[in-house]
Amino acid sequence: MARAFSTKFFKKIKKIDPEQLEGFIAQVLRENAFLEVVFNAIAEGIIVSDGKHKVVFLNDAAAGMFGLDAGGAIGRDVEKLPLPPALLDLIAEHRKSGLPIRHREVAVRNPLRRLYNVSIIPAGDGDGAATHDVIIINDSTAVHRAAEEQQRIQSIESLAALTAGVAHEIKNPLNSLNIHTQLIHKAVDEIPRGVMTDETLDRLDKSASILIDEIQRLARIVDTFTRAVRPVKPNMRKASINRIIETIVELITPECESRGIGLTVQLDAEIPQVLIDAEQIQQALLNIIKNAVEAIEGDGGAIHVETSLKSDHVLIDVEDNGVGIPEADRLRIFEPYHSTKFHGTGLGLMMVYRIVKAHRGAIGLSSEEGAGTTFSIALPLDERPVRLLESEVIPPLAHLDGASP
Ligand code: ADP
Ligand code: MG
Repeated sequence: MARAFSTKFFKKIKKIDPEQLEGFIAQVLRENAFLEVVFNAIAEGIIVSDGKHKVVFLNDAAAGMFGLDAGGAIGRDVEKLPLPPALLDLIAEHRKSGLPIRHREVAVRNPLRRLYNVSIIPAGDGDGAATHDVIIINDSTAVHRAAEEQQRIQSIESLAALTAGVAHEIKNPLNSLNIHTQLIHKAVDEIPRGVMTDETLDRLDKSASILIDEIQRLARIVDTFTRAVRPVKPNMRKASINRIIETIVELITPECESRGIGLTVQLDAEIPQVLIDAEQIQQALLNIIKNAVEAIEGDGGAIHVETSLKSDHVLIDVEDNGVGIPEADRLRIFEPYHSTKFHGTGLGLMMVYRIVKAHRGAIGLSSEEGAGTTFSIALPLDERPVRLLESEVIPPLAHLDGASP
């Protein structure tokens, strides 16, 4: 728009009187200011460089994305800007080929992993010759995270459905096994002495007892699985999260005391009642706090539970000074059957994850090996789902991994 106007204008420039010129300059300035407001309002980062690769413009979004100082960046070579290496590589590639780059994904650690969708388009003066390069950077992290999140929910839910089916099929024969082994046990007791040697009778009796014990153990495992994988349709009622935490603290205090773990709680009194399934949330928090207890070895253990009211959600943090979670394990932490414990089922955190997601909440964690772990759960205050937490665990982006520094 400005370009068409000025092209026409320059053709007539010699015939123009000073008054008209003044009007033209005023219009160009107005248009520039207008464009600057527009470019600064959009979420995409924009960096424009001239034929000598010097930055002539960058908008607020670009400055914000990479912590650039707009004043300091203008006039510098684009390749000298403190941009992430993956982005600089793309700029170098474009400079070498001169060809436009469209919608290329780059992964960056900044320090958290972020994904950018980048285009570098040569822009001309209307006569076809390119005089500038326009770099357009779209932060696509949130879109990718949401897609991955959806994938994760689906795979956990289908695994849960499969497990529920198998558990259900096992239950009936297991019941029947249980009854018949008990009958055998009883029958063994009723065998008259003298029919077999005492030794044989003893052996039969012992075997029947072992069978009964093992069958009951299996039944308990199946029961745990059935409970963990049954569908989680929360029964939403207004309830107080602080109250739930007080109940859990009462439940868990004796165990903490016997293990010498200090349990402290800080509850934000401003938190209103929220629509939740109180039973499920209690189960989820109990699982997390139990894990915290189990992560503590030796003396000086401490667990801190804190609630706080945020703009659109209630945040619950459970912090421990236990063994921590190695980075490699963090990605698998919510997967069913992932456990590092001898008697662990690896179902606890899967349940937590399903419950939080059924509440349209978010769950994140930060952990340092040998120092401790903090799990954070965000539950929405109203109908809108909570956005993912920055500390939310997301799987690595396989197709981009290795491309990032
Ligand atoms: P389980 O407790 O049966 O092992 P979970 O799903 O509850 O299963 O936890 C999975 C794994 O996550 C645990 O085995 C443990 O390795 C790790 N984990 C969970 N919470 C913590 C924590 N607070 N500190 C250290 N490791 C943890
Ligand atoms: Mg557990």
